Amino acid sequence: MPEATTPAVQITNVRMIYHSPDGETEALRDISLTVKPKEFVSIVGPSGCGKSTLLSLIAGLIKPTSGSIEIEGSKVDGPSPKVGYMLQQDYLFPWRTVMENALIGLEIMGKRNRQSQRRVGELLSAYGLTGFENHYPRQLSGGMRQRVALVRTMATNPDICLLDEPFGALDYQTRLFIEEEVGRILRENEKTVILVTHDISEAIAMSDRVIVLSKRPATIIAEHQIELGLKTRSALSARNEAPEFKTYFRQIWKELDVHA
Ligand code: ADP
Repeated sequence: MPEATTPAVQITNVRMIYHSPDGETEALRDISLTVKPKEFVSIVGPSGCGKSTLLSLIAGLIKPTSGSIEIEGSKVDGPSPKVGYMLQQDYLFPWRTVMENALIGLEIMGKRNRQSQRRVGELLSAYGLTGFENHYPRQLSGGMRQRVALVRTMATNPDICLLDEPFGALDYQTRLFIEEEVGRILRENEKTVILVTHDISEAIAMSDRVIVLSKRPATIIAEHQIELGLKTRSALSARNEAPEFKTYFRQIWKELDVHA
């Protein structure tokens, strides 16, 4: 019998209802999902269906109305250093340099010191930002800003990275390039990743598994294990070389269309 590993993320029967003066909004209904350590899972679904809500729940920023969420076997009860969160907007502080922005997470955790600063310097150079440490965000391209945001997320060394439409604000060429790069970095560092995107191609290109959500209230309508006959897995080769790519795309497109 293979030894059972503790899931990186375990979501069980989660329901989320927002209450506001205008009434109730049911965002998620009966969501159950297990993510294995080092797995790269994408979540696709129509706009407004509840994707970001699901990430905020995993990040411990909000609490579910019912059901439970566990990170590495422990119930989520607020934000955890095991989880890093990267958003569509890079949210870099304009008055801070690249280095100062990249250090924010460590600063908040009280772990800013000479050693961690040197590690962030190494990350910046690994991500092609050597020479830009003292630049300000306005002096960088969109792709570079997203790389700084990724360094900031990785600097605290989380096991689990939550990415909410991280490439949505980039032009198409930059997006393909950054997708490739970020995918490689996350896999090399053996992170567990949950990526939210409305881009079906991106989800297939980057992931081991794609979860398809219905319109709000979101339920899981399909799951696809992405098996591409490629020697080495990369987002670009998945898009360009894998014959299975189109088949997955058509299938997921149909699922989203039927449930739109
Ligand atoms: P997605 O990420 O799929 O676009 P969201 O998770 O952002 O969807 O939103 C799902 C639904 O929940 C939407 O109808 C949205 O308006 C609603 N919603 C999100 N956050 C809140 C909130 N804080 N209060 C009330 N409703 C919210």
